Amino acid sequence: MVLQVPAVLKGRDMTDRESRSGVKLSSQLGLIACTHPQAYTLPLVSDYVADSSDVLVSRLGSANDIVPHLREAGERSNMIVDAGCWKKSITGQGASAVIGDGLDALNLEQWAKQVVKSTAARAVLTPSYHVPFGEWDSLEALLRATAAEHHPSLVTLVPIGAKVLEGQYLDQFLDRLSATRPRQMAFVFTGNKKPFSPDSMPGGRARIRGLRRLLARFPGTWVLGVDPLIATDALAYGAGLVAVGPNYGERNPSGPDDRSSGGRAVKGLPGFFLSSLLELRSPGMYEEWFSNLPPDEVEFCEECDRHVDSFDSTEEDRQRIFEHNLHATAGFVNELVGRQERGRERRAWLDKRRCHALEGHTGRGTMVGPIQADQTLRALCELDDPWGRSTNTHGAWI
Ligand SMILES: [Zn+2]
Repeated sequence: MVLQVPAVLKGRDMTDRESRSGVKLSSQLGLIACTHPQAYTLPLVSDYVADSSDVLVSRLGSANDIVPHLREAGERSNMIVDAGCWKKSITGQGASAVIGDGLDALNLEQWAKQVVKSTAARAVLTPSYHVPFGEWDSLEALLRATAAEHHPSLVTLVPIGAKVLEGQYLDQFLDRLSATRPRQMAFVFTGNKKPFSPDSMPGGRARIRGLRRLLARFPGTWVLGVDPLIATDALAYGAGLVAVGPNYGERNPSGPDDRSSGGRAVKGLPGFFLSSLLELRSPGMYEEWFSNLPPDEVEFCEECDRHVDSFDSTEEDRQRIFEHNLHATAGFVNELVGRQERGRERRAWLDKRRCHALEGHTGRGTMVGPIQADQTLRALCELDDPWGRSTNTHGAWI
């Protein structure tokens, strides 16, 4: 389905007008609720942010019955809503096929007003379609169409493949973003698996480096749909807001043309954020990793009041893991944003924290050999290593 941009938006050149959104939020951490029936986490995330003051990020959802739940959540916490058009549709040719969700009848500003009124959201992402790789004209059309709007809650969403952050494409990407005077921008970087951890390590490092350059050019930009490692790196390099999902699909978003994979869910359990090692593995995996340790030495989460390898394949435990990921992610982000120092010192602290977690992998072994360290963690440590060293798959410097 291709919905038309209202005629009122076409041909308007807003590049000389101030169009930056003035959205003020209670926290720099957004937590993404999944509204898919198979991993529905809206009540869980909504309850958590109401107590913590972090920001709820939710899809509008296709079913009307989600709106009352969103309104309730929006009234008790800061909330950002996303129409999610980018999950299914890609931009077409020209300015008439870059945004959607009923905009044939109302213009974008009126649409945003209506969404805010019905959900009590603090911010609304433009209902952007996914920008196919290399289609720069579509990107410009999206920026032009959305930069034109002035509703204070509206934020331009750019959903695009993470590959665009790699060296040979990055300059073109940044130039195109600069060509249209930016309003508040939010990005979703998509990929087949983990967008910031492609199969090759050089590619992973290049994407992280690219994101840092983008944030240097557009400080205050929002980066949505990332894991705690990329979220904290983005905050240290100038992001205004990051949004992390407690479940795999929300922190590793895929576009309409990606072949999404859910990672290795041992015993069908989702990834559990282990902040000491900065890993997000299934508790069944930790059971293998810690099988050589006496039970009282296996890591324990005080807030969950449970050992990290003690979760069973039940729906209740799946929900407990999502709940854990919320407080563990917030804990890690707060370790960073709560620090006194800024800039270079803050980034140096984060590098040290990550290297310490990586070193924590070495010497741990399972029945079948040493454990594998997360590729994004390795890429981050390698990127900031003053000696330019590499790491092996087990997290040791080589
Ligand atoms: Zn916990």
